[in-house]
Amino acid sequence: MLLKKMLKLKGTLAFRLTLWYTGIFSISSLAAFLAFFLLIRSVINEQRDDELLKDLKEFSIMLSTGGVNKIKQAVAWEAGSEGVENVFLRVFSADGEELAGTDMSAWEWVYEESRSLAQLKAGSATHVFETLNAPGQSHQVRVICGYIGNGLMLQFGESLEEDEDFLRIYKNVFTPLMMIVTLMAALTGWMMAKSALAGVEEITHTALEISKGAFDRRVTIKDRGLEIEQLATTFNFMLDRINTLFKEMKETNNNIAHDLRSPLARMRGAAEMALTTVTTMEEYQAIAAGMVEDCDRLMGMINTMLDIAEAESGIVDLKLSEVDIARVIKNACDLFMPVAENNSVKIMTDLADGCFINADPRMLQRMVGNLLDNALKYTPPQGTVTISAAVENGQVILRISDTGIGISEKDLPRIFDKFYRCDASRTLHGSGLGLSLVKAIVTTHGGQIVASSHSGGGSIFAVTLPRSSSG
Ligand code: ADP
Repeated sequence: MLLKKMLKLKGTLAFRLTLWYTGIFSISSLAAFLAFFLLIRSVINEQRDDELLKDLKEFSIMLSTGGVNKIKQAVAWEAGSEGVENVFLRVFSADGEELAGTDMSAWEWVYEESRSLAQLKAGSATHVFETLNAPGQSHQVRVICGYIGNGLMLQFGESLEEDEDFLRIYKNVFTPLMMIVTLMAALTGWMMAKSALAGVEEITHTALEISKGAFDRRVTIKDRGLEIEQLATTFNFMLDRINTLFKEMKETNNNIAHDLRSPLARMRGAAEMALTTVTTMEEYQAIAAGMVEDCDRLMGMINTMLDIAEAESGIVDLKLSEVDIARVIKNACDLFMPVAENNSVKIMTDLADGCFINADPRMLQRMVGNLLDNALKYTPPQGTVTISAAVENGQVILRISDTGIGISEKDLPRIFDKFYRCDASRTLHGSGLGLSLVKAIVTTHGGQIVASSHSGGGSIFAVTLPRSSSG
């Protein structure tokens, strides 16, 4: 169980972020500590060399003021104050004879190891430094060898034990300190990663609740950083869209069920009547004709829904060609003229030249046909339907206006919804799918459709389509 939890934790983003943070922080701290250590060491070494040089100069002054005897006294005094095991001093004549020196019993090895005297004599420098490793001991010895006047040379060696002790303490403090820093970095990293990912966790939690049926749940927008805020906003926006689509689908399903039920009930009633009460051939024929009509209406509705779905999904196979919209309008007017005459409605046209668009002619005919059909349907006798086509700002604009019943402001935003029918038109036949199909066709052709109206004062439908480049 614990192992399972650990393995799960290993795969989390919070764990990986913590690991990265701890790693980077520890490496940076290590580098900083190391740099500081090297800096301290070099400062200590520099100071030590300065002091040795200063001592050499003091001996040189002593020689000039008090002669070799004063030097011998100073050597003895230095050995007494520092301790013969910590320092050694030797004074040499120009030909290398040792004139004075401290007790060298603890420094025997220096005779073997030291090269500074030979280097000084061989070179032209006034002094040379050397670092010796005391055999069998962990510390080193720093030696200066230089001229102090009258051709005399002084060799002065000092144990570095004290300095090394200080650096050792630094190292000893550094190791546990580094461990504490790493632990704190891991803790801080974990807390930071957890707080940064809290928003993501909430979104996951919300998604889980939604998957269980709480469709109204949303992520609370809090100040958790811009990225998380944007993610939460986008997530909520996506949920709203899905909710709207879901409601629309539900509404469409209800409408389909409702619209299918009435003709089906009618057909069933008619069939029942044919079975029970009808006796003559004429009556059978009348019932059959009514059923065929209902079937046609149902099939028409289903076909229109399929066409809309196809156009809306964008998978429709458009057979594009250059179409003169004026010609399409003229054909539609010819087709609808008997209906117009029957309703005593006048059709007027105002068609400009050069209204060419790249379109699927069959779809364009359906679009114009539906708009003209509506205009005639919703315009009472003695009214007028005017169709115009013109080129404006490089686009083809088609307007169908009528003097009909108009569309109320409340209905205008919904007339393109599937199955939507305004109350004012419920007495007239229709399915509420015509304008949905028109909109889907216009959108597929890269155009726009806008409806405007004043209730009781007629309606205007304006379709804007991109003009064909060769038109
Ligand atoms: P329908 O089959 O009902 O005509 P449509 O989708 O073509 O369905 O139109 C949707 C609704 O928009 C219609 O029911 C009607 O209320 C309204 N409408 C459409 N065109 C007009 C118009 N020219 N004048 C008034 N109302 C209209």
